[in-house]
Amino acid sequence: MSYDGDILYEEDDEVFENSSEVEEKSPTSVFGYRCNHCGSVFYSFTRQNINSCIICSEQGISSVFFNGMKDSYLIPFNKSIKDFILEYRKKIIWNPIVPIKFKRKKTMWSVKEVYLSCFLSDINQKGTLYFVGVDQEKNSDNLMEKKMYNVLESIYFDYTNVLLNINSKIDDRVFQTVCDYDFSNLKSIDFSDKSQFFYLVGDMQGDSISEKSRKKISKQTVAVACQNIPHSLKKLKDDQSVVSFSNTKEVFVPIYLLSVKYKNNIYQCIMNGQNGKKYFNLPIGIIETTIFALFIFGLVFLISYLIAYFL
Ligand SMILES: [Zn+2]
Repeated sequence: MSYDGDILYEEDDEVFENSSEVEEKSPTSVFGYRCNHCGSVFYSFTRQNINSCIICSEQGISSVFFNGMKDSYLIPFNKSIKDFILEYRKKIIWNPIVPIKFKRKKTMWSVKEVYLSCFLSDINQKGTLYFVGVDQEKNSDNLMEKKMYNVLESIYFDYTNVLLNINSKIDDRVFQTVCDYDFSNLKSIDFSDKSQFFYLVGDMQGDSISEKSRKKISKQTVAVACQNIPHSLKKLKDDQSVVSFSNTKEVFVPIYLLSVKYKNNIYQCIMNGQNGKKYFNLPIGIIETTIFALFIFGLVFLISYLIAYFL
């Protein structure tokens, strides 16, 4: 597999200041931003007034100049920012234990329309998996004992359109639950597009991308192979399979991203910009939970008191 994960950029404040000159010099110039706190790099085809990071929400953004965009694809947004706000409000508005910070208008409207850089490929996995199968069986003394069996499974799996998030700062657990994109509508990036979208570049390199892809599909392969093994317990002992990639490309997928810092952790709420599937990672507020518990306690106490008083 080959993948050029390096995005070329150089810091050049003078070039950035003279933005009209930049656009004339090269049609693929973009406005780049780098967070001084977490190092995330994102860019836009229009100059945007941004003070805080779209990933860690910390203040302190430097300008960087990009000229390295080429041959990338994207899936267009289908959902609007209002769709996100509507779903987010539904989730938090009546939830008494979500911290108040997450309910502020300022917080919810800080959601960003982001094209997240991903790696899309078809993957083939073939070879042999070696398992140990275990069964409880009766021995000659009519006592139950464990019996172990070596099982060999020949595998040949073709996976199509395997999507991998290649930005380590996007919460994979959150992204995995919303990333069921339809890839039939891939478009080339339009460099003349002057929309307000942010493009978030990947920070993983070739070897870690192939390792992550392998882990992702191997999990699925082992689960399917296990179904063919007629023992009650089975454990993978050795993996002698080969993974090969084809049709690899970088694809920017649309997400609504709301990153909120709360007690030194970043909580990410993500909505799929194509089909609206969402996962909101929200913390439980200690103060809010205490207030809610006291309220319930007080209510129960009051009702009990009234019942005792009137009966
Ligand atoms: Zn940051």
